[in-house]
Amino acid sequence: MAARKLQIALYWGAACGGCDVAVLDTNEFILDVAAAADIRFWPIAVDGKYHDLEAMADSELDLALFNGAIRNSENEHVAKLLRQKSKLLVAFGSCAHMGGIPGLANLVTKDEILATAYLSNASIEPGNQTIPQARTAVDGMPLEIPSFYRRVYRLCDVVDVDYFVPGCPPAPDQVKAVLLAVVKGELPPLGSVVGASERALCDDCQRTKSEKMVRHFHRPFEILQDPSRCLLEQGILCMGSATRSGCGVRCPNSNQGCRGCYGPLPGVADHGASFLSALASIVDSKDPKEIDQILAGLPDFISFAYRFGLPASTLQRSYR
Ligand code: SF4
Repeated sequence: MAARKLQIALYWGAACGGCDVAVLDTNEFILDVAAAADIRFWPIAVDGKYHDLEAMADSELDLALFNGAIRNSENEHVAKLLRQKSKLLVAFGSCAHMGGIPGLANLVTKDEILATAYLSNASIEPGNQTIPQARTAVDGMPLEIPSFYRRVYRLCDVVDVDYFVPGCPPAPDQVKAVLLAVVKGELPPLGSVVGASERALCDDCQRTKSEKMVRHFHRPFEILQDPSRCLLEQGILCMGSATRSGCGVRCPNSNQGCRGCYGPLPGVADHGASFLSALASIVDSKDPKEIDQILAGLPDFISFAYRFGLPASTLQRSYR
């Protein structure tokens, strides 16, 4: 008798689609996945409907990879459905893991977002001041769209999550490793971050390192950088000391600082704060005024240090 195929689902919440592309970036390995698994639900690639998912028995799916954050009621509804229908639910990619880029919207309020999109946007028809409502009527018929939440949440804020796969997006080798681990039944303890190292990215980075003493911070395009030397020593923000490795050092190898998409090191509660602490130790001055001047040169620090994890941080959102 043929071995039972794995039953899997993939879904995106508030996301850009890059995590779905990362699955396809496994190239011909996707054929092995197709041979070993039935893809029962994957809206970006397969014409499944929500009622197909609703009709499944509880735990009928072996694995659901959920990418994207929770921005609206539809994201939360499908997250809860997938939790109910899947034996294993994986937060796949930075947005599901930590809130990701959509989570930066937590720096502003829901009203500010709606006003920017629907009231003061150059592409709006003059005089149109319509803000979408969750419930309305069109030609006398009720119409309902998902409710837009006050803030962005991580997947684990709305359902129990079995594993976390970091990355924006996860590297193809990591995607393969996770799928193979499920196929072989070789899974780490529940709640683990999988497909990433417990080392810091700096430990895997091949750039030369010496004592870091920085007097000026720069954006990468503002200086001619030494391609072999640590970026942070050259004043280019790089979160390698505060971030898990496992991505293949993709950003520093492309002359860009690490922006932290693999998340904090084990045991660290606030990724941005741990990076700020590392930065404070390399400022080359003892004079408080000069230190203030040097730190004032940090380009858009909060959007850098919390680019992928504001909803997972201690602050979580703006409290205006
Ligand atoms: Fe490499 Fe960045 Fe660490 Fe420097 S700070 S060693 S560039 S990962």
